[in-house]
Amino acid sequence: MLRFTMAVAKALGVLLALILLTALTQFGGVVLILAWLGARIWRPRRRRLAATLALFGALYAIASILVVPPLAALGGRQPLPCTLSDEAPVRPHNLLYCALNRHYATPSVAEMLAALADDLSSRFPGIQVAYLDASFPFFEGFPLPPHLSHDDGRKVDLTFFYADAAGRPSAVITPSPIGYWGFEQPRTGDPRPCAGQDRLLTLRWDISWLQPLLPDRTLHLDANRAMIRWFAGAGLHFGVERLLLEPHLQQRLQTAGGVIRFQGCRAARHDDHVHVQIRP
Ligand SMILES: [Zn+2]
Repeated sequence: MLRFTMAVAKALGVLLALILLTALTQFGGVVLILAWLGARIWRPRRRRLAATLALFGALYAIASILVVPPLAALGGRQPLPCTLSDEAPVRPHNLLYCALNRHYATPSVAEMLAALADDLSSRFPGIQVAYLDASFPFFEGFPLPPHLSHDDGRKVDLTFFYADAAGRPSAVITPSPIGYWGFEQPRTGDPRPCAGQDRLLTLRWDISWLQPLLPDRTLHLDANRAMIRWFAGAGLHFGVERLLLEPHLQQRLQTAGGVIRFQGCRAARHDDHVHVQIRP
């Protein structure tokens, strides 16, 4: 009986790991299966779990660097830059986004980000544009949890700019270490279209318990305004179709209308990041 219970617990653990890895990285679950098969062939006398994990790490790294990029290109997606280059100051907010392969997008998205960074650099020397989640490498319609969209390579989330100690705009010193969930709160008199709507089925998480734990940051209004206005102006030539931003920030940044929209009260808040998508 004990053996049966252990076997069920083990199977459930493996299933959970497969689901989690797939939700986080798309192909991580498949790599785990390959690693498990590899460990069975390898047949280490002891520590089969350690052997499986070591194989998983090695296979995942090799796949991420050598296998996934060319395969993703067949489907029309490429990795966004993981390091800064001379060409464009575009980077992930956190290397985790690259490590988890959540940084794939169409070439048009990469081109748009490079043009945005180029424009902002001319106004704010030394500025860097930082992205968060984009899409997974493969398959149209494969969701990127917990997002409702981000399933076709046409969407990317960007951090806001915050003032550093010298008052310069930084895309990296966000309140939250992962870029998401450190919300700018509406001020007195600001629009609050979702106030009092306590829906059960919603992705509009306030994560109130986390907010007091995060450091205070000051939005760099000029740089954020320049970014949003670029999307609503020059960005249209790069295919910008929609930009999601909370109404209180639209008002504060004096940017509204056109491609700038409010996502509604069922989707995630957009006052910790900005969501941009381009036309098909
Ligand atoms: Zn988004």
